[in-house]
Amino acid sequence: MKAHDGMYIGGEWRGGIGTQAGIPVVNPADEQLIATVPAGSAEDIDAAVRAARAALPGWAATEPAERGARLAALRDVLVARKDEIAETITAELGSPLPFSQKVQVGLPILVAGSYAELAATYPFEEKVGNSTVYQEPAGVVGAITPWNYPLHQIVNKVAPALAAGCTIVLKPAEDTPLTAQLFAEAVHEAGIPAGVFNLVTGLGPVVGQALAEHPGVDLVSFTGSTAVGRQIGATAGAAVKRVALELGGKSANVILPSADLAKAVNVGVANVMSNSGQTCSAWTRMLVHTSRYDEAVELAADAAAKYADRIGPLVNAGQRQRVRGYIEKGVAEGARLVAGGPESPREQGYFVSPTVFADVTAEMTIAQEEIFGPVLSIIRYEDEADALRIANGTVYGLAGAVWAGDEAEAVAFARQLETGQVDINGGRFNPLAPFGGYKQSGVGRELGSHGLAEYLQTKSLQF
Ligand code: NAD
Repeated sequence: MKAHDGMYIGGEWRGGIGTQAGIPVVNPADEQLIATVPAGSAEDIDAAVRAARAALPGWAATEPAERGARLAALRDVLVARKDEIAETITAELGSPLPFSQKVQVGLPILVAGSYAELAATYPFEEKVGNSTVYQEPAGVVGAITPWNYPLHQIVNKVAPALAAGCTIVLKPAEDTPLTAQLFAEAVHEAGIPAGVFNLVTGLGPVVGQALAEHPGVDLVSFTGSTAVGRQIGATAGAAVKRVALELGGKSANVILPSADLAKAVNVGVANVMSNSGQTCSAWTRMLVHTSRYDEAVELAADAAAKYADRIGPLVNAGQRQRVRGYIEKGVAEGARLVAGGPESPREQGYFVSPTVFADVTAEMTIAQEEIFGPVLSIIRYEDEADALRIANGTVYGLAGAVWAGDEAEAVAFARQLETGQVDINGGRFNPLAPFGGYKQSGVGRELGSHGLAEYLQTKSLQF
């Protein structure tokens, strides 16, 4: 059972400084208030950054193997408390419990474990000719995370930062702060020293902005919308501060003519409907050769209908409104609705039906903008050059998929995609594979040794 409902600063739990009111946390499946958390202030951020700065020399000097041991202990606490965390995520985000258990909690456990090992094995010191090159911690990290994978997004930043020897202040999303409080309890239980990890809850434009602007923060790591990411990048740039941005996506699922069509379509629909479409890497555009287009549309409509009873709600009323707006826009721009639609399937909760559009053209709004809901656009292509032009024809470049009868054919196509990660004939999650965007999907990488390198700075000594 979660024992704390405040902020975690310098190893202690407390309410906000000068906090006027709390932030309500609502269960999106039934719209009931489940908790209230402190709305932090700039003073709270300042206290947390001071705590992180005070803890930095000690943690940076801690042997990497010992940092790894603390991360292994953190992983073990997450494993021990996995059911409680999954139930909390289901309560505040709405994702169905089996998904919360398997993905929302399962993946971050793998990531925490991978950094426990990487901390101990990473080459923090290397000989290069007559020089010794040291990889030193970047300093105090300000981490700002979104609500869609509340624990995963936190672990993707905290685990590599701690492995690198950095200390950190986390500002989690307003919609999902309870998972962040549970995570802070796990950090405490794992014996990570006071001040190494700090949690401040509150509003993005208040505490998020204060964290990004704080002169005591050396590196800002942000995951969220491109609009806010652009602002944070500008703030960090003006202060000559390092920044890592994981932003939006509009990923293409390219089904080449030689592919197993039924498998590619079924996995593709599952990918879009997963987490109610609230996944930045979701394959929201399905590209199908004209010779197999009608068959693919029929398969996709059938597959989507199967999710109607299983899909969770969107995170809040605002997101539901936004997603409905996109569905209406798709209809208005001439796309053909073959599953779902803008009407709410239930009276209570922020639900949207699994929705599939056919006859989508590459220029339509629903093919260009990130919807962040359970909405798939199926686009026709004439030949491979056409498929490549459409796939690369957005401002984003986060993820994607290529399906072909021959793996080498799929790889050859994938190498031409302007995107950071591509699944070949399905693919499987790999906690060591770097994840991050080309183009406006972001700057930097998370996961694996590339993710760890984000939190390091390099010094060379010549002899
Ligand atoms: P958001 O950008 O509104 O919020 C993300 C975080 O930033 C939250 O913690 C929020 O409180 C904070 N924030 C908001 N305004 C801020 C400001 N002015 N200064 C500092 N912090 C501020 O995004 P969201 O609605 O929470 O998440 C949805 C978006 O995030 C989607 O566009 C999605 O693609 C993107 N996303 C990207 C990834 C990725 O890995 N690339 C992962 C998840 C979500």
